[in-house]
Amino acid sequence: MTADRAVPDEDCVLCPPLRFRLNTIAGLPGRDAVLAEDDAFFLMPDLAPLAEGHLLLVAAAHLPCAGAFGPDLWDRAVAWRGMVARLFQRAYGDTGLLVLEHGPASPQGGGACVDHFHWHLLPGVTGVRAVLARDGLDGVPAGHALLRERQQTGRSYLLVEESGTATVHPGEGVPGQYLRHAAATAMRAPGPWRWQEVFATDASRARFHDTLDTLRAAVEDTDQAA
Ligand SMILES: [Zn+2]
Ligand SMILES: [Zn+2]
Repeated sequence: MTADRAVPDEDCVLCPPLRFRLNTIAGLPGRDAVLAEDDAFFLMPDLAPLAEGHLLLVAAAHLPCAGAFGPDLWDRAVAWRGMVARLFQRAYGDTGLLVLEHGPASPQGGGACVDHFHWHLLPGVTGVRAVLARDGLDGVPAGHALLRERQQTGRSYLLVEESGTATVHPGEGVPGQYLRHAAATAMRAPGPWRWQEVFATDASRARFHDTLDTLRAAVEDTDQAA
């Protein structure tokens, strides 16, 4: 599947016309919260950020996961990741970058919270891989080829990139929002982690706005430096 053959899914919250609808429900800016975009991807804060700086890189087209990308789209996603790493460095210092993707939902359940490509990007979080290992979900160092193979053979996956290394873990049958849980565990974050429990709370909204303000300033700095 290529981006130009992917048609919008009218029931998908990351496709038009529902895109940004959850933002509206939560009382948050939608289109105005997009930090950067091109014809293939856009970047915005997670609606229920696990930490300040929690962003989503979302495909403009309704593609289920990075395993469905062709080489060109993959290279562009990797370039976006590099841009976010530089933004985080500018905004938060040399904290490192965590990338999480829960591959497509499988008939066995689990998988993505939304079957539309998005990478979760967080500054300054490590230890997610260790949480997965404790849960018996050992991964292998891997890149796009393995994601494609998993996608093409109808299997799900969990992608974790931390400390500069990407690993792919089995994603079949993991509980819903497993990676949110794993990230919250790695951060030793107290309190709820399911997005439904934090969505639209005052604390969650404040974190969304802090993320937006800090990273928008970093984007503007970068633009001026360019
Ligand atoms: Zn979609
Ligand atoms: Zn997600």
